[in-house]
Amino acid sequence: MGILIVGAGFSGAVIAQELAQAGLSSTVIDSRSHIAGNCHTERCPETGILLHRYGPHIFHTDDAEVWAYLNALGPIMPFRNQVKATVRGAVYAMPINLHTINQFFGQTLRPAEARAFIARRCHPAHTPAVSFEDQALQMVGPELYEAFFKGYTEKQWGLSPRALPASILKRLPMRFNYDDNYFSHRFQGIPQDGYTPLVARLLDHPRITTHLNTPYRPDMAAAQDHIFWSGPLDGYFGFRLGRLGYRTLDFERFTEDGDYQGCAVMNHPDAKVPYTRVTEHKHFAPWESHAQTVCYREYARAAGPEDTPYYPIRLSAEQALLSDYQALAKAEAGVTFVGRLGTYRYLDMDVTIREALDTARHFLAQRR
Ligand code: FAD
Ligand code: UDP
Repeated sequence: MGILIVGAGFSGAVIAQELAQAGLSSTVIDSRSHIAGNCHTERCPETGILLHRYGPHIFHTDDAEVWAYLNALGPIMPFRNQVKATVRGAVYAMPINLHTINQFFGQTLRPAEARAFIARRCHPAHTPAVSFEDQALQMVGPELYEAFFKGYTEKQWGLSPRALPASILKRLPMRFNYDDNYFSHRFQGIPQDGYTPLVARLLDHPRITTHLNTPYRPDMAAAQDHIFWSGPLDGYFGFRLGRLGYRTLDFERFTEDGDYQGCAVMNHPDAKVPYTRVTEHKHFAPWESHAQTVCYREYARAAGPEDTPYYPIRLSAEQALLSDYQALAKAEAGVTFVGRLGTYRYLDMDVTIREALDTARHFLAQRR
């Protein structure tokens, strides 16, 4: 009998490492041919550029323990994500800051003036915003909403912002100063050689056996005392109640000599541009230098059964299905559902690591 961990992403690798340190052996399986899940990074064989295969990943957190945990796995380089957005033929800072406001409205406002200027345009917040659109109209007003959020959000989610929850926009700040950092967290960075070596370090322990190219099969359960499941929640139950909805991304790769766009991320909110953004991966490692460049245009669409699930949709129809799957999960003895897919939530890496540490510690405390 043993412990099986399904998924070799951060969720699975952190749990395996915590159990190993406590003297418990485990087997980690992953259906992919590599470790690190969606955080997987690899060197481009032609250019040597570090590529984030499933979309760029920037580590940002206020959790000092998780930050120390990550730094103990390998060198983390400072990185600030300074995103730009091309809108109607001009380039702006994103998220919206004082520069964006002054440039967009042709003003030279100071912080308090800009706050009052935007407040005059915003819809009153008598009641808390429910939809993305309500939130945008209360937060930035109609002009900035139409220019920066409406088209991008329709492309990203395939739905009207009226049908989406306000929580999606609440991920972004609105700043009345010239701070152009995409994130507001205390600790931010990217591993010097990418995420995969850090996950390899977590899995490198005599009590951990890792099998790649190994999808889970239900007959594997018979030999286990316990399973930690970081695959899709509905997938564990054979999709018997239906499929939880996800958005997936198609990445259109192109390479050139030199510098394509001068920054790591260029968003394209205009509705007539079919992609949401272009990411240029060498700019995620500014401590390196490369003559060539590799970029990806990102196109979002509904995930089919064979696609990589990226963003859980979590609208009311999904919420009902999710509760039914959560009830099944609760009743499933000997299985703990973890991570982004196992709990059907949008989880950043820091929260993933925090929850994996807490899950492993709770499991170990219960066995004592
Ligand atoms: P995953 O990394 O998805 O790992 C799950 C693993 O389980 C996968 O390797 C999969 O192959 C395996 N698996 C699934 N089913 C089975 C099965 N049946 N049998 C065997 N193996 C199976 N977070 C940040 O903090 N910063 C960012 O900048 C950031 N950018 C992101 C950009 C995109 C486009 C996306 C989608 C996410 C981003 N995230 C970011 C979130 C980050 O990717 C997650 O926090 C992290 O990947 C979660 O780790 P996990 O181990 O829970 O899941
Ligand atoms: N968004 C937008 N325009 C932008 C950037 C973001 O409309 O230029 C919206 C979009 O709906 C996105 C949400 O804001 O899903 C949250 O942005 P974030 O960068 O957190 O998205 P994610 O990390 O999920 O891609």
